[in-house]
Amino acid sequence: MTAEIIAIGTELLLGDILNTNAQYLSRQLADMGISVYFQSVVGDNEERLLETLHRAMKRTDIIITTGGLGPTTDDLSKETIAKALGLSLVEHEASMKRLISFFKSRHISMAKSNLKQAMIPEGATVLENNNGTAPGFMVKTDQNIIIVLPGPPNEMIPMYQESVKPILEDLSDGIIFSRTLKCCGIGESTVAEKIQHIIDRQTNPTIAPYAKSGEVHLRITAKSQDEAEAIKLIDTMEAEVRGIVGDYIYTTDQRTLEETVVDELREKGYTLSVAESCTGGLLSGRIINCSGVSDVYLEGFITYSNEAKMKHLGVKKEILDTYSAVSEETARAMVEGLVKHSGTSTGIAITGIAGPTGGTKEKPVGLVYISVYCGGKTIVKKYHFNGNRHKVRERAVVQGLIMLWN
Ligand code: ATP
Ligand code: MG
Repeated sequence: MTAEIIAIGTELLLGDILNTNAQYLSRQLADMGISVYFQSVVGDNEERLLETLHRAMKRTDIIITTGGLGPTTDDLSKETIAKALGLSLVEHEASMKRLISFFKSRHISMAKSNLKQAMIPEGATVLENNNGTAPGFMVKTDQNIIIVLPGPPNEMIPMYQESVKPILEDLSDGIIFSRTLKCCGIGESTVAEKIQHIIDRQTNPTIAPYAKSGEVHLRITAKSQDEAEAIKLIDTMEAEVRGIVGDYIYTTDQRTLEETVVDELREKGYTLSVAESCTGGLLSGRIINCSGVSDVYLEGFITYSNEAKMKHLGVKKEILDTYSAVSEETARAMVEGLVKHSGTSTGIAITGIAGPTGGTKEKPVGLVYISVYCGGKTIVKKYHFNGNRHKVRERAVVQGLIMLWN
């Protein structure tokens, strides 16, 4: 298997930015035993990009491009790649939906030019972008595999790790086995720091951390012709990693955090009810995404206003008046009222300030209280989340799941 990396962008040719994407991808491919024979850099120019693509398609098996997937007219990678392959662009429905909800959640109106980001060459496999608006895609022809990724490294790297690497591993000559240790409640840089000595000396197996919406996934990959040997290599590294960050690992299987939480509640014979203010049903939504949750999940309330907190959860007016809706006391009263009204064994309540408005010096945007009731005890935790409204709400949901998991 041979590969060529094509970095697209006039800024690269002008020396405004350094081509770190090519460096990153070359390293990754080398680790996998895929030989990178060429790296090319080409500007945002249709004619020269076509020429570069045609040349690459003749001389290499796998072509990975980065850059030029944005909404503006200088971003012409997709159109040109489709042209080189003789494919027309078609609307990808799921990407269109993602795009629309991305803009909606940020309260920005979507420019018409953004619509082109949901267009992909017919027959291509979409590679989801969880950190930006432009999805990538992959096209397989008789001779080549063409993988198209966005330019910003913070979008390109997670897409490579999550979608591209597994595809390439299936193609590479050595047999590759991998296991993902899914961690929550700890940041990517903290994990990386703690296991740096393992990362530094990695050969086989290798280990790579990557952040995934509030979680950190550690992927251990072993190369071997013999499955038992590969599993032994992975087991050994997993044991070493567990010795350091074991408390944060919630699963090594396919399950999501919410699925792990629901399974654990079910095993203990617990039920769950949810009361949400600033997250407005997002937590319930994630939990109800788990199939077979009906034996665990009883009910959920979106108590956004003070009146709703009083009416549905029995929160006392004095508590709201004295401490305000976003306070430890209110979070405690919410979950205790919830448990009383719903007769559940486990309850969770979230109240916070998602912003961008509504923050004060004492209670800034991002302040969130989460309370969990279980086994006769209530625990309330205070958090300060960074980011826009969407991020604050998302982080609160992840933290709520982590509290339930603990
Ligand atoms: P966007 O939607 O942000 O426009 P895009 O896919 O169109 O994404 P480009 O416009 O090509 O990407 O590049 C956007 C930014 O990504 C650049 O300004 C630069 O910061 C970064 N970038 C692009 N290509 C590379 C590269 N090869 N190496 C490192 N950084 C890059
Ligand atoms: Mg761009």
